[in-house]
Amino acid sequence: MTHAYVSLGANIGDPEAQLVTALRRLDASPGVRLVSVSGLYRTAPQGRTDQPDFLNCAACLETTLAPLELLDLTQAVEADLGRVRKERWGPRTIDIDILLHGRIRMQGDRLTLPHPRMAERAFMLVPLLEVWQPGDGPEGARREDLEAMLARLPDQGVRLVEDRASFLQQVKRVE
Ligand code: ATP
Ligand code: CA
Ligand code: CA
Repeated sequence: MTHAYVSLGANIGDPEAQLVTALRRLDASPGVRLVSVSGLYRTAPQGRTDQPDFLNCAACLETTLAPLELLDLTQAVEADLGRVRKERWGPRTIDIDILLHGRIRMQGDRLTLPHPRMAERAFMLVPLLEVWQPGDGPEGARREDLEAMLARLPDQGVRLVEDRASFLQQVKRVE
């Protein structure tokens, strides 16, 4: 069993509902169990700023899937939720990025771990810090390393809109 950390974001349709559905799908998938979720955050778009604000969160998953198998799963969930891959960094119904997979460091055609732009993005680091567990990440990453990455960034306007307890309740709610 390995802990993998995913970052989810959405800014069109019903972003909160899409994040909840994506987390439920991951939890329901063979070889994956949702261990914890962060709070829900609102972030102004970066890069292309002429689009709605994003809602973002992170989750810790316990998984038996190898990194590329987990990527296949996250991409299948994105496709299921109606994501159409158009322009990079454009608006989307759902984006699921893998931040960390155990202690693995890799650079491949389809997958780079840790996520190559994580250190530049408060909307990934702030939620990750809420769910990260000691020992996860390459070379015995420490909490202070993640905090130091975040401290180097300018204020990127990441605002908590729902704390992790009530967001988790929503994800776990049986409908
Ligand atoms: P960014 O990667 O800068 O956040 P994006 O999420 O908008 O941009 P996508 O169009 O969703 O980019 O993904 C482009 C490709 O990135 C995917 O097809 C996937 O193969 C690759 N990729 C590489 N590393 C990762 C990772 N750690 N998590 C998710 N996808 C990754
Ligand atoms: Ca992304
Ligand atoms: Ca992505």
